[in-house]
Amino acid sequence: MAKPMAVVDYSVCDPGKCSPDGVCPAAKACPQKTLKQESRGEPPVQFGMCKGCATCVTACPLKAIKMM
Ligand code: SF4
Ligand code: SF4
Repeated sequence: MAKPMAVVDYSVCDPGKCSPDGVCPAAKACPQKTLKQESRGEPPVQFGMCKGCATCVTACPLKAIKMM
């Protein structure tokens, strides 16, 4: 079975709501740097191999990230 990966629900994610400067706290918290924000105010995207640690799930104030 494949390991769970963090998946952003873009219908819930709202970078303007979760931090005053538009910086995604979940991407900032990702120890692997696979969840990245290309620019401030943009929703984060996955690059490379998510290790499934769920740190980003805990760090997202809007609960927009699920492990799937
Ligand atoms: S912390 Fe959550 S709601 Fe905020 S930008 Fe990141 S994924 Fe979206
Ligand atoms: S589950 Fe861990 S490795 Fe994967 S995106 Fe979230 S913080 Fe990064």
